[in-house]
This record gives sequence, C-alpha cells and structure tokens, in this order.
Amino acid sequence: MPELPEVETMRLQLGKFLTGHKIVSVDVKNRKIFQGNEKQIIGGKIIGTRRFGKVSVIDLSNGYSILTHVKLTGQFIYRGLNLKNPDPLSIKVIGGIPGPHTLVIFNLDREGILYYNDVRRFGWIRIEKTKDVEKEKFIVELGPEPFKGLTFKVFTEILSKSKRPIKIILMDQTKMGGVGNIYATDALWDARINPRRLSLSLSISEIKTLYNSILKVLKAGLKYGGASELAFVTPDGREGEYQNHTLAYGHTGELCSRCKKTKFEKYFLGGRGTYVCPKCQI
Ligand SMILES: [Zn+2]
Repeated sequence: MPELPEVETMRLQLGKFLTGHKIVSVDVKNRKIFQGNEKQIIGGKIIGTRRFGKVSVIDLSNGYSILTHVKLTGQFIYRGLNLKNPDPLSIKVIGGIPGPHTLVIFNLDREGILYYNDVRRFGWIRIEKTKDVEKEKFIVELGPEPFKGLTFKVFTEILSKSKRPIKIILMDQTKMGGVGNIYATDALWDARINPRRLSLSLSISEIKTLYNSILKVLKAGLKYGGASELAFVTPDGREGEYQNHTLAYGHTGELCSRCKKTKFEKYFLGGRGTYVCPKCQI
C-alpha cells in the first residue's frame, strides 16, 4: 500500500498537472468507490493539493474538495497539455486507460483528463466541502507525521507509552501518519532493532537511532519517487524506484548487506510481511 513517499509523490504531481484546470464533467463508472455528488465539482477550478497521511486532497475554487485514498491498487493518471512527455511504455496500468479498471474519468478543460484506475477497488474518492475536510474522522485521528509534527520529543512520548511491538506502533496511523510496511521494515533494519521488540523497551539512544532511520528511509523513498510494489504509478504514468533500493524489505534469503553473515528472514507481524536480519536486529 502506498505510504508517505508514494502518496506525497502522487500529490505533488497531481498539484503540478491539475492546478489551473477546470473540471468539465465527471464520468463515474463505479459508484462503490465514489462518495458524494460529482455535480458539485463541475465548473470548479483546481487550486491546489494537500496530503493528510495517506489521503490526498484536491481543492477547488468553488468551495469543494476531492478526497482520495488509493489503498492497494488505485492509480491516478493524467493526460493533457501540462504533461510534456507522457511515457506509455513504462505505464503499469492493467487494462490500459481507459480500460476495464478505469472507475472514474475527470474530463478537464484544455484537453486534460484525469483517470482513476483500481484493479482491487479498495481505494475511494469522496466529494466534500473544503471547510469540512479537516473534520473528517481519519484526519482528526491521524497521528503526527514525519517532517511535520512528529518531532523527536513527540516520537519518544509515543514509543514510551506502548507495550505493543515497535513495528506495529510505527504503522499505526493514529500514532503517527504516513509510515507503512516497507518503510517501517527498512527503518527497523537500519536502526538494528528487532520489529517484535515491545515499544516501551527501547532505550533513548535506540529511539534516537530509529527516529533518524525513519527520516532517512522516507527521504530515500521521496528521492526515488516512491516504491512501485503492486500497482503504484505516478500521475505521469511512471513507476517509483524505491523497490530497487530497499534495505531489508523483500530481501528474503539474501545475505544481509551489513553483517554479511546471515540471510534475511521473513515472518508476518500484524498480518504484514516483515524482513529481518536475525544477527543485526536485536
Ligand atoms: Zn545483518
């Protein structure tokens, strides 16, 4: 599932390509994933984008906003004059655009089109008044985010209160926003911490190391435009590259690049595939 680097990369591109376009019509092909009345956004001009954890918000000039969570396989693809070089060859869109998995089409002025594709259909799009966006339950409950409110002090307070495994805490969006499985796995390897360790058992120096590791792997994720694990593509139709630069995630059976003594092991923690070096991560 896309995490902070993927959603932020998507949000930045949506902002770059969509800002200034007006919405001419909306073709909703699947009602289950679309909530609200699309008529409210017709004629609205896109003025910017925001992100709250894994949720993106597209704000319009007419007092309405489009909220979206792409979940496992949702993809926004832009085609139009603001995209100079679309890359159809690298596009990882099952069925193509528009195709059998295209669930919503936003027709924009000046020949712009925004497609929403979703094979698994777990993602959602919601129309809402801009003034109500921050009253949304998931935004109200969202924990502080790295690079925003998640300071080292706040991070320490969160970790020292919980008896749950550290990896579960890192991925709990009500504790902190934006970190999911890939980056939690890599940050814990980087910090040499066993993902099963109880959160409150970490020493201050371990917390400090882990905090820095989280920022480090998220920055790498942002640099590589996110990780295209399942279906993630950016609105210009390209894939992220972080999956080729992971530290531990996906490395089952490979020799640990740090100790060079032990192979990575994989187990499930909280239902998510977790990769560890049994020698380095204690
Ligand atoms: Zn190792």
